[in-house]
Amino acid sequence: MNLDAPVSELKGVGSETAKLLESLGIRTAIDLINNFPRRYDDYSQVVPIAKLRPGQVTIEAKIGQVKGRYVRRGLHITEAIATDDSASVRLVWFNQPYRAGAIKADQTYFIAGDYGLHRGRFTINNPSVEQVSNFPINTARIIPIYRETKGLKSFTIRKLIREVLNQTRQLPEHLPDWLLAEHKLMPFHGAVREVHFPSSSALLEKARRRLAFEEIFELTLAALLNKYELYKEKSLAIPFKESLAKNFVEKLPFKLTDAQRRAIWRIYQDMAKTQPMNRLLEGDVGSGKTVVAAMAALMAMEEQFQVALMAPTEILARQHAETLYNLLASVGYGHHVALLIGSLKPKAKSQVHAKIAAGEVKFMVGTHALIAEKLDMHKLGLVVIDEQHRFGVEQRKKLQAKAGHMPHVLHISATPIPRSLALTLYGELDISILDEMPPGRKLVKTKICSPNSRAQLYREIDKELAAGHQMFVVCPLITDTERSRGLSVEEVYERLSKHDFKHRQVGLLHGKMKATDKEKMMQDFLEKKYDILVSTTVIEVGVDVPNATVMLIEGAERYGLAQLHQLRGRVGRAGHQSYCFLMLSDAKAPSQRLRALETITDGFRLAEIDLQQRGPGAIYGTLQHGALDLRVANLSDTKLIAAARGAAQKFIEAGEDIKKYKHLDYRVGQLRAITNLN
Ligand code: ADP
Ligand code: MG
Repeated sequence: MNLDAPVSELKGVGSETAKLLESLGIRTAIDLINNFPRRYDDYSQVVPIAKLRPGQVTIEAKIGQVKGRYVRRGLHITEAIATDDSASVRLVWFNQPYRAGAIKADQTYFIAGDYGLHRGRFTINNPSVEQVSNFPINTARIIPIYRETKGLKSFTIRKLIREVLNQTRQLPEHLPDWLLAEHKLMPFHGAVREVHFPSSSALLEKARRRLAFEEIFELTLAALLNKYELYKEKSLAIPFKESLAKNFVEKLPFKLTDAQRRAIWRIYQDMAKTQPMNRLLEGDVGSGKTVVAAMAALMAMEEQFQVALMAPTEILARQHAETLYNLLASVGYGHHVALLIGSLKPKAKSQVHAKIAAGEVKFMVGTHALIAEKLDMHKLGLVVIDEQHRFGVEQRKKLQAKAGHMPHVLHISATPIPRSLALTLYGELDISILDEMPPGRKLVKTKICSPNSRAQLYREIDKELAAGHQMFVVCPLITDTERSRGLSVEEVYERLSKHDFKHRQVGLLHGKMKATDKEKMMQDFLEKKYDILVSTTVIEVGVDVPNATVMLIEGAERYGLAQLHQLRGRVGRAGHQSYCFLMLSDAKAPSQRLRALETITDGFRLAEIDLQQRGPGAIYGTLQHGALDLRVANLSDTKLIAAARGAAQKFIEAGEDIKKYKHLDYRVGQLRAITNLN
């Protein structure tokens, strides 16, 4: 059959069903095949009725005494007795009046459902029934459960997939034969059949491994192809001058950590090449990333090159400019740092422009809008991207067009993504991790709290506020819903400002506010116009408020550990003892998982725990990435990932032409657009 044919050409698919399928993203026969099950129910054990145990069961029996009736308006019950050689059992269906007419008395059926004590009697409730055959689809096997929608159940989807597979002789293979052989992978055709209609759990596992392998292989291949394509571009080589680096380091009021040394050394090596750097510098809040960035910038400026740093917000750009000015002043480069943001007055802005044109300013610090500034950037040697997950191929090309060459790019991120995951997500980046904190940091005291102790907690917090410190309160929602029980910024703001802390100044901040209003609120909080800032997680990656010493997180059990850790990083920035209170949303909420935060201070460790316990989605609530849409692969399966990555590398090294593999070429083409922090 033609796999690109619309589903409406399938037997039994009318316009109604076609519409429902479309709402699940299924338009063609191949879409059906690629719609992998979400999970499975195991009904593969066919047992004699006399041996039934509560749970998911299949029996092989005849059905008699079928009776349907309305017990009341809106509730129809069909009852029947199933009998095999060993015994009989009662079957009950709710609101399926057609059942009675569909059952023939002399026929043997597979009957699959949940056997148990229902209203005081042992029954099988709402069982699936189908004629005994060698290839049942709803009973007597491991049953696939698909994403469903109102009016379209797995039952129907199963039937359609079955039909497509029956009419399809051979699905074309996606992967090279040598790869299948080398990694003992099931061919695509077999894997698809097994994943929809497993013949055993062992074969299902093999099928899933094959499909997962393919996903990771495609993802890494896309990243590697991007990486090698970038390597063909030319950057300006920035030679390493040891004396300059030494001089800078000697003037620092502290000793670099070993992790910082390793990172900057790699960066200097990258920058000395004409091949463009594309490196990610990852490290917990406070691990000293800014110093490393400053050292990279210094080397570029010494060669008379320009440097641009882009931050997610204007306030952050402002803080960076200040920090960088201070760091670089000691070696005579402070005056090269200039803030270039939208809110500058026109006069100030044109002054900066003039200085840049004259070469008196080499280090432009701003937001994303820097790319759009009408500036001569033909000497742009290095770009530093701070906390922006959306700086990818396209943005880099814009910069390239502007500069006339490809600048070196250093991405900076405080999101602690474990290396294994980072390699897959950001495969086209080289990665340096600052996994070591500068010595002497005061740890943020972290405590899980129950709402019962709220009043006492507020009294303690108020002592901090009375001493002139400030507090962040983070809530999971903007507006209350019926079930949210006061977890929204709006509700908490009301309560704190009118009741619990009415003697304090309380501010409100959330993601739906206009960007300028958000910045204004942050600036006001920074200037201490407020004692308390009630906010959503928009403050997660954000501004340094050295005076803030308390972080109170409402509904803490709703967040991933890594995200909580990042929020905690908002306080304790200036050597004051700081506190993080994890407020559970009710007195009973389980807190076992959260306990890790009370003792573990390493963001990477916490992220690893998240990854293992809750999967990659939990690592970072707001991280949007194509790779997280994986349908089969589990990103915590490091062995499989390593194998698939190796295979992608080999594919390239073997000089394989991806055009030879039509499907692979198509998929990888799509993925290349979304990889790279994009
Ligand atoms: P990050 O950007 O990773 O959050 P910063 O670069 O802003 O961290 O550094 C946080 C603070 O630690 C700054 O005050 C910085 O001067 C200081 N710092 C950086 N590196 C070290 C170090 N090796 N030893 C001591 N303090 C350091
Ligand atoms: Mg920083």
